Amino acid sequence: MRRIALLGATGSIGRQAIEIIDAHPELELVAAASGSQPIDGLAPLTQVGGDLVGLLERADPDVVLNAVVGFAGLPATLWTLERGADLALANKESLVAAGQLALAAWKRGGGRLLPVDSEHSALHQCLENRSAETIESLVLTASGGPFRGRNRDELANVTPEEALAHPTWSMGPKITIDSATLANKGLELIEAHFLFGVPYEQIEIVVHPSSVVHSIVRFRDGAALAHLGYPDMRVPISYALTYPERAATPVPALDLAGGLTLEFLAPDADTFPMITLAREAGVRGCTFPCAFNAANEVAVAAFLAGRIGFLEIAETVERTLDTVSGAPAARLDELTACDAEARRIAETALQPA
Ligand code: NAD
Ligand code: MG
Repeated sequence: MRRIALLGATGSIGRQAIEIIDAHPELELVAAASGSQPIDGLAPLTQVGGDLVGLLERADPDVVLNAVVGFAGLPATLWTLERGADLALANKESLVAAGQLALAAWKRGGGRLLPVDSEHSALHQCLENRSAETIESLVLTASGGPFRGRNRDELANVTPEEALAHPTWSMGPKITIDSATLANKGLELIEAHFLFGVPYEQIEIVVHPSSVVHSIVRFRDGAALAHLGYPDMRVPISYALTYPERAATPVPALDLAGGLTLEFLAPDADTFPMITLAREAGVRGCTFPCAFNAANEVAVAAFLAGRIGFLEIAETVERTLDTVSGAPAARLDELTACDAEARRIAETALQPA
């Protein structure tokens, strides 16, 4: 039996995880948490809001599936890595914001860190723990979101409803907006850097509209291994929860002869500056990735609330990164202070100059 604590149980990932857990006799849900929606009876231990670490202490799970959205997932990520329990990580924001702290806790704890993000699950599967020196580069694929092919002028007046209409993936609202701005791929770039220990200059991003190739690893011998499948998060969720067993899922096999075409394009960096901003924040290091994430969370919430336009999301992040100190953080309380500072600056920067 694998005893699972599911954080973010009512979300897009959380609901699909429950389907996977219900279908597998060796997986047992021992604790579940949501932010605000009621979840009575979902698991022996449930919690709505509040301190997730307290819940994890009581549940003492073998695996924590962190599917909380945003920086709020960070204490649970650090607790799990420190404890040496297995971490199935959907909450990319925690690894982006606290990469160094998370890696140090992971090293001390010695558990498994299994990415649930589809691109990173794909990379994990292509890499199979091969050593870093065999890798030429990691290639993250991006769908391009609902606004692929548009220019900046055409994005000035897009509404939250238009931005929420993702062409290939059905996800929670925050990551769907991140996919429209390509901030999601910026977060994933930093996530890949920390997960796989690969320098930023060896991580590429390519637009792939059909989302069938979930990522590619290029090796030094000229081989490139890709991971293919229909865009369905149940595959990476199941992979992370049943690793290394690869339990069966209801996801259909790829119909290769039925007209599958694989198209790849360079991202449009002028229209979608978030990848560049994330890359710069990642290369600067220290708490710049934390500030990138914090400013993005503030700006996305403001966009969804109708307070700013679509283009101002990236402008807010850029102004915040120009202003924060980016000082290093050696502990969670220092990092939390950096996150709070970046949020204050981003709130001020929301007003167009
Ligand atoms: P969602 O908005 O659908 O769900 C978020 C969940 O987190 C909800 O259950 C909510 O109640 C819970 N939550 C929010 N704040 C909380 C708090 N303070 N304490 C406890 N619970 C809290 O989001 P989602 O799309 O399921 O995404 C979850 C995470 O997974 C995000 O980090 C996202 O980037 C990542 N992710 C999602 C997908 C996807 O397909 N949805 C793909 C890859 C990665
Ligand atoms: Mg992803």
